[in-house]
Amino acid sequence: DKRNPGQPEFIQAVKEVAESVLGYIKAHPKYHDHQILERMAEPDRVVSFRVCWQDDEGNVRVNRGYRVQNNNAIGPYKGGIRFHPSVNQGILKFLAFEQTFKNALTGLPMGGGKGGSNFNPKGKSDAEIMRFCQGFMTELYRHVGEDTDVPAGDIGVGGREIGYMFGQYKRITNRYVGVLTGKGMEYGGSPIRVEATGYGAVYFLQDMLKHVDKSPEGMVAIVSGSGNVAQHAVEKLLHLGAKPVTMSDSDGFIYDKNGIDEEKLAFVKELKNKRRGRIAEYAEKFGAEFHGDGATPWRVPGQLAVPCATQNEVSGEDAMVMLKNGAIAVSEGANMPCTLQAVHQFQAAKILFAPGKAANAGGVGVSGLEMSQNSARITWKEDELQRLLRDIMQGIHDRCVKYGSEGEGSRYVDYVKGANIAGFVKVADAMIAQGVV
Ligand code: NDP
Repeated sequence: DKRNPGQPEFIQAVKEVAESVLGYIKAHPKYHDHQILERMAEPDRVVSFRVCWQDDEGNVRVNRGYRVQNNNAIGPYKGGIRFHPSVNQGILKFLAFEQTFKNALTGLPMGGGKGGSNFNPKGKSDAEIMRFCQGFMTELYRHVGEDTDVPAGDIGVGGREIGYMFGQYKRITNRYVGVLTGKGMEYGGSPIRVEATGYGAVYFLQDMLKHVDKSPEGMVAIVSGSGNVAQHAVEKLLHLGAKPVTMSDSDGFIYDKNGIDEEKLAFVKELKNKRRGRIAEYAEKFGAEFHGDGATPWRVPGQLAVPCATQNEVSGEDAMVMLKNGAIAVSEGANMPCTLQAVHQFQAAKILFAPGKAANAGGVGVSGLEMSQNSARITWKEDELQRLLRDIMQGIHDRCVKYGSEGEGSRYVDYVKGANIAGFVKVADAMIAQGVV
């Protein structure tokens, strides 16, 4: 705590990993001798910079931008960019640290990084968003590159923002390279990148259930968020025959007892991606319940939960209610949406719990494939990428089982432990091989 004052999320993320890997390190002293965990928990570098832009009234506005490059032992730094007023150095350090393990888990050669700004995109015109993205890239370009650091989208950064940043990178450097992922299909994007995180989180849920001879079919699913990850988690839940009944944004959540079907989901996509409206409109249109004041959906009964909004949205108390209501599986679509207390509750109850670094790795997995396609200057076919995403998620599940199984006589898998140790071992071995740096 003394080393990272004012960074509770970062401390929380490191603590969670330490809880899982300390026993393993004790049994394998080389990791202790090389001080691997200490080195991983100190980013390679943190860049902080000023972003200047002009609003539509001609006023000069100033925001703060960051790029945290955590670890590049197994590949170029890779991780999203977040635009949200809550962004600060501690949150980005937590995300870059998590990303290092997640990227290792995918089996692809990608290191860990994360960036963003405290800029609030809400209510900004398209022209303002463009000027902000250009201002952001005007500094960021000197720290990134297709073989150095390859950012992607995250909260508040979707295809539109990636496009504006890519345009500015190209203009400054005069190079057409895969410096960002999540690009549009017309200029180097990959099929299914948009769907990959949400789909992947539900594939992981399916794999956890399959491991205990169950399936999501017919089960009620509680989903939070209504952005990129939430929309595609709902879509895949529908494909697999589950019944999603909630979605949310920072105003509150909707509860549709009849289930969110394909048609209602199409409305949410149009509402959020085109009109950038609020989820409350869903309740008005379809006669569902709306719970305001920033309420979260965790008190709604359901067997499955897929939190897809933001960090620490599921408290220990929420977890208790969920367990009482019959929850059997939780798959983190967002990064660290469950507090440590909530995770401990789920583990104590021995329900299926997938941490974000495993469950939401499908997005960065397909981003890795976008990098490969850009390097080769080709685009693979959609069905090939669908298959590869399914394989990546299955591979992550297998790695978690390998390191997280309780052993003979028990089918219980501690996915937190499994994901942390599997990610740790890969990065740690690469660090040891590359010497003390
Ligand atoms: P979007 O910006 O598309 O959507 C975010 C959603 O979460 C919105 O509904 C937003 O509501 C809500 N939300 C954001 N912040 C808060 C908050 N503080 N309180 C309540 N609701 C909030 O982002 P994504 O869907 O891309 O990302 C969601 C999560 O998934 C994040 O944790 C992200 O790091 C993680 N993730 C995303 C990946 C991706 O490929 N996009 C990959 C891996 C992880 P509102 O509109 O009101 O802000």
